[in-house]
Amino acid sequence: MIRATSVFVSEPGDRSVLQVRDHDLPDPAEGEVQVEVAAAGVNFIDVYKRQGVYPVQTPFVLGEEGAGTVTALGAGVSGLSVGDRVAWCQSSGSESTVVNKPARLLVPVPDGVDLEIAAAAMLQGLTAHYLVTSTYAVGPGTVALVHAAAGGVGQLLVQMVTARGGVVVATAGSDEKLEIAKALGAQRLINYSEVDDLAGAVRDAAGRGVDVAYDGVGRSTFDASLASLRPRGMMVLFGGASGQVPPFDIQRLNSGGSLFLTRPTLANYVAEREEYEWRAGQVLGAVADGSLKIEVGGRYPLAEAPAAYEALEGRRTTGKLILVPTA
Ligand code: NDP
Repeated sequence: MIRATSVFVSEPGDRSVLQVRDHDLPDPAEGEVQVEVAAAGVNFIDVYKRQGVYPVQTPFVLGEEGAGTVTALGAGVSGLSVGDRVAWCQSSGSESTVVNKPARLLVPVPDGVDLEIAAAAMLQGLTAHYLVTSTYAVGPGTVALVHAAAGGVGQLLVQMVTARGGVVVATAGSDEKLEIAKALGAQRLINYSEVDDLAGAVRDAAGRGVDVAYDGVGRSTFDASLASLRPRGMMVLFGGASGQVPPFDIQRLNSGGSLFLTRPTLANYVAEREEYEWRAGQVLGAVADGSLKIEVGGRYPLAEAPAAYEALEGRRTTGKLILVPTA
């Protein structure tokens, strides 16, 4: 048993329900590994869980991803040693100084990749990876709409679409954010806080309807995303940063031109260890060889977790926010 410090959600609610406090952490159980956390990633799913949009029994520790150094092994764990550098996602309770994680969720961090960058790359990186490889297979000439293109997932989508020869129509809420997307390869830029007809602006920018719309903004962009698609285009609603999309009339897929609609989630694209390893290997490998850039847009001590979420929810961030054990 050791002491750990973690970010707890005491009950569903606003940021005032966050509590950073010490607690006992038992030794790792069978199949588990104890990890000293170097950094944990801040994600929108933490907001949904805290608010109760995704119901979770309280109290619980926030944080779906992280990276750190193995400090102890539970019974039955093989292939890992004390001192190994590891990363994970799809595992709650990561906003802590020390965690016990199932060994099957840990992946090796390549030499040369900083642990804080690895933590920042996992959840959003694997998300962008499945979105461009499996939800819609982006290839040369694919025209993709990417909303909130300077955000965490957005920056990675821009890079992964362009790396596959696709063309990105990027949106963001300010010209400064659009400059970030442009520097990462986005060819067409739209400041959606300044246009009345977003779908028209997307079609003008693309020269036609887009093949795929990657929409993690949700409520405020969904209708325009759908109206931006070419016939038989793919609407990928993968989040609701602006709020959840209300119930939907399926006939709109018909009138829009035989459209496809999916609402994917990472869990279904990393459920098998082999697929998880493949995606993590590709993402961390691209970080290691410099072909995928991770912008850490904010680095907060665990004790300042509420400030990190205030910035994320307030649209004041670019790239990825991480929490670290100390300042
Ligand atoms: P971001 O860094 O993209 O931050 C959200 C961005 O959304 C903001 O910076 C802002 O950019 C834009 N936005 C527009 N309207 C609002 C609003 N009302 N409130 C807050 N933000 C708004 O976050 P993440 O990269 O962490 O996540 C992006 C989306 O991806 C989220 O919806 C998240 O849930 C989803 N996601 C889904 C996964 C899945 O598997 N389905 C996995 C991981 C993330 P701007 O100012 O440019 O408009």
